[in-house]
Amino acid sequence: MLDYKELGLKVGLECHQQLDVGKLFCSCPSNINEGKYEYSLVRKLRPVASENGEFDKAALQEFNKNLEYIYKFHKDYACLVELDEEPPHELNKTALKAVLEVALKTNATIFDIVYIMRKMVINGSNTTGFQRTMQVAKDGILEVNNKKIGVESICLEEDACKIIEQGEGFVKYGLDRLGIPLIEFTTAPDIKSPEEAKEVAMKIGELFRITGFAKRGLGTIRQDINISIKGGSRIEIKGVQELDLIGQYVKNEVIRQQNILEIGKKLSVTKVELKDLTGLLAKSESKMIKTALSKGQLIIGSKVTGSKGLLGTELQPNKRLATDLSDFIKVQCGVGGLIHCDELPNYGITDGEVEKIRKELGCKEKDGFIFVIVANKEKAEFCFKGIVERLEMLKKGVPEETRAPNEDGTTKYARPLPGAARMYPETDIPFIEINAQDLKKKIKELPLWYSERVKLYMSKGLNKQLSEQVAENNHAREFESYIGLYDILSLAELTLLLEKEGIGEVVWILDAQKGGKVHKNDFKALLEAHRNGSSLQEVLEKHERQRLSGDVKSIILRYLEKNKDFIKQRKESALNPMMGPIIQEIVKQTGKKPDMKELTEFVKMGVKKYI
Ligand SMILES: [Zn+2]
Repeated sequence: MLDYKELGLKVGLECHQQLDVGKLFCSCPSNINEGKYEYSLVRKLRPVASENGEFDKAALQEFNKNLEYIYKFHKDYACLVELDEEPPHELNKTALKAVLEVALKTNATIFDIVYIMRKMVINGSNTTGFQRTMQVAKDGILEVNNKKIGVESICLEEDACKIIEQGEGFVKYGLDRLGIPLIEFTTAPDIKSPEEAKEVAMKIGELFRITGFAKRGLGTIRQDINISIKGGSRIEIKGVQELDLIGQYVKNEVIRQQNILEIGKKLSVTKVELKDLTGLLAKSESKMIKTALSKGQLIIGSKVTGSKGLLGTELQPNKRLATDLSDFIKVQCGVGGLIHCDELPNYGITDGEVEKIRKELGCKEKDGFIFVIVANKEKAEFCFKGIVERLEMLKKGVPEETRAPNEDGTTKYARPLPGAARMYPETDIPFIEINAQDLKKKIKELPLWYSERVKLYMSKGLNKQLSEQVAENNHAREFESYIGLYDILSLAELTLLLEKEGIGEVVWILDAQKGGKVHKNDFKALLEAHRNGSSLQEVLEKHERQRLSGDVKSIILRYLEKNKDFIKQRKESALNPMMGPIIQEIVKQTGKKPDMKELTEFVKMGVKKYI
């Protein structure tokens, strides 16, 4: 068992939630058009010197990769704003309202003036080369299981493009995600255990959802987790989508940092001495080696002093020290990976061959070795430079860095921690003045928490299951405003059925029900017809319930007369089994369904004659 308190674990979360309110600076929809792209556009990024004549180092490094950025888009999902051919339009007011509600709900201090800033982005994921962002509030409190978690900052920003494909010399992006509003919600490092990290993440997710403005589904909420332990370093795990794995990521990071601190002490390597092993392995039966040789690749290895047994030691579950080196050179040197002594014999490489390699590389008892399969010697030198760099880092302790989540709850090296964000004021949009007092008056009703909603609905007569379903619904707040005006059961059922259409149509149908035009039993059929293309008006007319005319009453009386023996025998309990056939008979003869309430009353009355 890990004693997280003893280890001094500190975790902070940074959650990004997409809003379902259209884009932040134009009127495009905030939907993703999976795969439907009409046009593409090619751009290159060029660094520009700042006011004092200096170039940004990271921007220059990116420029040197000489990448082409290909933007794919459909005209229904992106306009000239996303293409950066037109200045941004006015800020989306609903998005601002959503983020202000989140701020008020956590008692955060809202800024009097909100400045829209440009945060430099150098990987092409924004067509402008920057992301627009605005800090709206700071210093809030989120209560989770009676513990107060600090809220450092609440921002509203625009989402970046989504990567569709990445290849040699190019990155392909989809423009549909660019400009979708995001709430960025950052907690203080007040979280002290993996379980708590998950609970806080869940609570933040709830906070977003109760506003009714949050997009739902995978990829609509992304979490960055900041983790550190005593003696370790701050690590950022970026872009976690699986809420259920958050605890696992935290736990595995603690284990990883402890293991690095242990292994780091034992590492002694400072330099490598490269040798070509291609000839030595020329006759190997290993498929991997044969394939490499047939492609004319080289096998180049080196002794790694004192590393035997260490390279195969786990840093995280199923991820060894050698895996860490491999992840590092994959990112830094762009190679496929490495082979190390602790995993051999394997891949068809025999014990005898391992011995030959050890001898060739001059390995003593405690020395390990690594080899790489590469196109040329320069590439091998580049790889081993990376390996030594990484080993030197690990010797000194836990390197501060950004890590990417693996699906199994472990992480891999992504890049060094970014420095302070490079921000400039947005010159195309004026700042926004916010009067917090006014705002509190205007936003009278803040959203209720999930549990408060369930309690309220149940007190109004809704059962637990429906209460929970409606509480989770994006239209729950509108639903609440109609409680008391309509039958709560019908209101709830329709709110769930009409999730896509919204509460306006719910009320429309409920009004029709009040006027006796439709019956509750018709709701499902009605909606089905509506979704198949008929307007609500048409569907309603078709489903319009018929008041009991003299003709209909005659049909009923004739039916009862025909079944009088059954009625005499079953008495009141004859009523239920007869209702279906009576309705069928009426529909057959008149083409319309009767009003259920009136029908039931009339049949009840008619039956009495025979009892
Ligand atoms: Zn647009």
